Amino acid sequence: MHQAPEQFKHNARQALGNLQLRKNFRGAMDFLQAKRKGVLPDDEFASLSARGEAIKQRCLSQLPELLEQLEAQCTKNGIQVHWAATVDEANGIIARIVRAVDGKLALKGKSMVTEEMGLNHYMASHGVDCLESDMGEFIVQMANEGPSHIIMPAIHKSAVEIAQLFEEKIEGVAYTEDVDTLIAIGRNQLREKFKRADVGISGVNFAVAETGTLCLVENEGNGRMCTSVPPVHIAVTGIEKVVQWLQDVPPLLSLLTRSATGQPITTYFNMISGPRKGDEKDGPEQVHLVLLDNGRSQAYADEELRKTLQCIRCGACMNHCPVYTRIGGHAYGTTYPGPIGKIISPHLLGLEATQDLPTASSLCGACEEVCPVRIPIPKLLQRLRAESQSPQSLAMQGAGASYSRLEASIWTLWSWACVHPRVYRIGSMMAARFRKCIGWLPSAWKTGRTMPIPAARTFHERYRQRRQQP
Ligand code: SF4
Repeated sequence: MHQAPEQFKHNARQALGNLQLRKNFRGAMDFLQAKRKGVLPDDEFASLSARGEAIKQRCLSQLPELLEQLEAQCTKNGIQVHWAATVDEANGIIARIVRAVDGKLALKGKSMVTEEMGLNHYMASHGVDCLESDMGEFIVQMANEGPSHIIMPAIHKSAVEIAQLFEEKIEGVAYTEDVDTLIAIGRNQLREKFKRADVGISGVNFAVAETGTLCLVENEGNGRMCTSVPPVHIAVTGIEKVVQWLQDVPPLLSLLTRSATGQPITTYFNMISGPRKGDEKDGPEQVHLVLLDNGRSQAYADEELRKTLQCIRCGACMNHCPVYTRIGGHAYGTTYPGPIGKIISPHLLGLEATQDLPTASSLCGACEEVCPVRIPIPKLLQRLRAESQSPQSLAMQGAGASYSRLEASIWTLWSWACVHPRVYRIGSMMAARFRKCIGWLPSAWKTGRTMPIPAARTFHERYRQRRQQP
């Protein structure tokens, strides 16, 4: 996927002007919010999310050891484990595996990590056709777009837009807005390809270190097809997806499905423990696991940013974010949009490129409230905002930080005034008197906003007056 978070402001402005897009998102987000609420009563959510947070924090506290254990167990099970520090390395590993079997067609289950890697384009440049098999991903691939939501990739499209797309791109298909018919058309297309696929590629929701088991959550059955029909299965995941024990999976799974789609459980839950054994009738002959770092170690090294690695990619923070629900996912210009994207994109792409993203938040706290593993997103956003303006940016060193001398001087002056009451009083008195002059200044901030009417007197003046009253 081409990532362009630098264009966020421009993209957001355009998205806000697209009424159809806003309507699509509003309807979809309201629906998802209501579904989640129906299966996650507040009291149950409180205890389950505390458990989810504790599991993720325990697993992260011993991440290096668990990754080594996962590798050892997977190897014992016959799964070939590959380590990739960057997306280039991960793409190279997958290309080599596919080349070794002379593969020409790869079928993919839904995987945000492979979106992060831009795998489809990379493989196409190496002569391998990578076809998405998740219905939403299939649609966005056909439209030559990226996913706009981490769980529902084509949520930005209405049934009419999908009907037009199918009619235009699939030979012999007549225009129909009937959703079941559209799904049947897509499935028929894919079923043909599954028969010919050389390789299946999937993501991983949880990788169990204790047993070397790869867990995959899905609703369409395409994930099971990708991992069992082609002779080679390649699972790709970020290093943070490892959990210690098999018993860690059920609470996290329950939080994931209920937070993501409002389902008590998904239609399919796959547990992959190795390639086909001698006496088994189906399953792949080879199973590979690619473990990707891509900036995660950088976040891991920082105690505060490490919390971002707790994420189980449910998308609930996006569904409840007042910014995401209005501008949609593409405006962010990153693989992961919405609140979660704002806190992980800086360590994936660098803070300099993503410095506008943490500012796209009202800090209302809805994201933290619904997060099933209790990631303190608003606090992290504030940290990233401050860091993007600091000349001594530490945690995002590799990425570089933006620094405005003017802004830094303004904040220095402000801090000085705050600890000198006399200066502060005079300053706020002047500001109250002359605030109306702001309206005359040319500023982009005023476009689309109504200037507030300034109070005639400062808070201190009013307070003093009130105290003097008998
Ligand atoms: S940050 Fe929390 S709510 Fe958002 S996708 Fe991750 S786990 Fe879900």
